[in-house]
Amino acid sequence: MPKTLSPLELMTKLISFPTVSRDSNLPLIDWVEEYLNSHGITCHRFYDDKEGRIVEKAALFAHVGPQVEGGIVLSGHTDVVPVDGQPWVTDPWTVTEKDGKYFGRGTCDMKGFDAIAIWTLVEAHKRGVKRPLQIALSFDEEIGCTGAPPMIDRIMETLPKASMVIVGEPSMMQAVTGHKGGRGYLTHIKGFEVHSSILHTGVNAIMYGAKLIDWANDVNTANLAAEPTEIAAHFFPSCTTAHVGMIEGGTAHNITAKDCIFGMDFRVVPGEKPDDWRDRYLEKVREVEAMMQAVVPETRIDISEKFNVPPLMPEENGEAETLVRQITGDNASHKVSYGTEAGQFQERGYSAVICGPGDIAQAHQPNEFCTVEQFNAGHAFMEKLLERLA
Ligand SMILES: [Zn+2]
Repeated sequence: MPKTLSPLELMTKLISFPTVSRDSNLPLIDWVEEYLNSHGITCHRFYDDKEGRIVEKAALFAHVGPQVEGGIVLSGHTDVVPVDGQPWVTDPWTVTEKDGKYFGRGTCDMKGFDAIAIWTLVEAHKRGVKRPLQIALSFDEEIGCTGAPPMIDRIMETLPKASMVIVGEPSMMQAVTGHKGGRGYLTHIKGFEVHSSILHTGVNAIMYGAKLIDWANDVNTANLAAEPTEIAAHFFPSCTTAHVGMIEGGTAHNITAKDCIFGMDFRVVPGEKPDDWRDRYLEKVREVEAMMQAVVPETRIDISEKFNVPPLMPEENGEAETLVRQITGDNASHKVSYGTEAGQFQERGYSAVICGPGDIAQAHQPNEFCTVEQFNAGHAFMEKLLERLA
């Protein structure tokens, strides 16, 4: 008989793998696959094939129950953020229970949910279910949700199509039905160096970059002042925002800067198209570039997309939301400002909702924890889900 682990034992095991996004997650994936195999569950992998990738990573997915469409996906990511430089009191890779809390990197975001999902899949397989249950464990969520889209495509090719997904990001086990989308662009302004005393013959990349950054200020001022749409009114702030969080450029105070590099990020409210914000930004970029090229023709601005996380659009009587509300009894409206993989599932035709144990406020923090109460609430939720699948 294979040994069946409890949700807590599973979480302890998952957290013992330091799967920081920059490192491989294969030891964790190997272990999960072996564990599920020992219970007779077939697993599938999707290997990361991003160009130039040195570290090997994989996503894992599996299906239990009848080979029919219409199942439920439990979705979590396997990567965690680094602990470097953070003042941890306990070992981040060991689950430590103290004061009614489980401490450890990923207890909240989101190996606690992953553990509960693995437990649920094994139970569903053992007990037998009428409605299929699937699990999807991704990588690279913490670096812009870049692992999930190709994984979901592979799941759709491989398994009978499920109709809904529960993404277990920490939501205090409430049904979160909407979040903003994210788009990030690395902007590289390539100017022309001259002595700053004759700056009119050069192209100062920093000063032209400032025009784009000030455009972002104008966007924010206008958006914050505008009347929000009905959907946007659920978010805080209730509009799309543009943000520059890092910048570098220039070499000396008396040389027109040859380079200026910054990130331009948009958080887009559901109901607005992220592509439209990209187009508006690119239009401004071309306008500034034309001004630069009027001085020195070979100057230019290069833009590359750093991340693209679609918004989670609140669904009208969504199947996923309805099921989670029936189980939790929570009927309030919850929207969040962080991005998740839920919008990526929704984009591909799944009804999607976020519901997982723990508080997002503890995610990414030193001494990250999930309360024992929240972890148990996640477990209890899954017991009820299993009853519904039977
Ligand atoms: Zn997360």
